[in-house]
Amino acid sequence: RPLLAIESSCDDTACAVLAHDGTILAEGVVSQKDHAILGGVVPEIAARAHLDALPHLVQSVLNKASLSLKDIDAFAGTTGPGLIGGLIVGSSYAKGLALALNRPFIAVNHIEGHVLTARLPALNASLQFPYLTLLVSGGHCQCVSVEETGKYIRLGGTIDDAAGEAFDKVAKMLGLGWPGGPALEKLASEGRDDAFTLPRPLKGREGCDFSFSGLKTAVNRLIEPLGKGALPRQIAADIAASFQRAVADVLADRAEHALAMAPHSTALVVAGGVAANKTLRAALEKVASAHNIPFIAPPLRLCTDNAVMIGWAALERLHAGEEPNEIETAPRPRWPLNERTPPNATQQQ
Ligand code: ATP
Ligand code: FE
Repeated sequence: RPLLAIESSCDDTACAVLAHDGTILAEGVVSQKDHAILGGVVPEIAARAHLDALPHLVQSVLNKASLSLKDIDAFAGTTGPGLIGGLIVGSSYAKGLALALNRPFIAVNHIEGHVLTARLPALNASLQFPYLTLLVSGGHCQCVSVEETGKYIRLGGTIDDAAGEAFDKVAKMLGLGWPGGPALEKLASEGRDDAFTLPRPLKGREGCDFSFSGLKTAVNRLIEPLGKGALPRQIAADIAASFQRAVADVLADRAEHALAMAPHSTALVVAGGVAANKTLRAALEKVASAHNIPFIAPPLRLCTDNAVMIGWAALERLHAGEEPNEIETAPRPRWPLNERTPPNATQQQ
């Protein structure tokens, strides 16, 4: 009784088919290359690109799983939070399939997908609730205590930029391409992380909120007098390394505070595209080992936006005995994790 899931909340169009127990039968992602040229995500272009990509993507994922649409028992789609155009396209596509085949549609919260990924049977069959997830991506930066399916405590979040956003903006200041995170990490490997003294916003502060704008401004203040276009490579590399160190320090400190707020956590999990960063991974690993709990970083393709996590979040609800049929639910650009089911279209007005 497989389930098909669609993710379309930002600039990646993704589809996956999962068996009822969570086994991944097939998955696929179409990344929108245009945004690299444009230097960021343009919502209108992203929405159209999802529409272009979906028919072929869904068919090719089904082919890979050697299944046809009529074999699918339930459909899941990201219904928020995210860019409204993409959410409408992807969730409507999944709803259309569900209606045509008379199957249920399950509305999935994108963040719930990220925080439950680590429980995929293929990854950590033994990962028990409660555990702590640090979600660090281009659009999100928050700490969530995952208590059980459907019960999440947001311990803190960013008061300005997301972590990935900070990487992207600093990369841009250094004249690197978009997305900036990977390019910045590469450049940083040639630099010294103690070359420049940069602030650690909110480090040591109670709670586990995050802030990156002061750090970003400090980097800008370093670069400006040196002349943007003409930064010698070594100085650029030193700035990149010092910035990366500062971000890793702050994130490790915030995770430390989050663990103090949720002391029963059985593991420290990282999710989101910034989880690719090796300096960050090492810093978080240290925090987890000081608390005698495992540090879990899912493979990168499951850390960045993907449909496997959307399908798995839907399956967790089915496994918990729920029988959701949420064909009436409207996509929500904002959808706090602690609100279970999104309101339907008429309620939202
Ligand atoms: P969302 O926020 O909805 O999850 P997104 O597409 O912005 O969507 P991801 O795809 O999860 O987020 O991650 C992309 C972000 O991760 C970008 O900001 C990118 O710069 C950052 N990133 C990727 N690799 C690295 C790296 N090695 N070091 C630091 N940041 C990285
Ligand atoms: Fe995401």
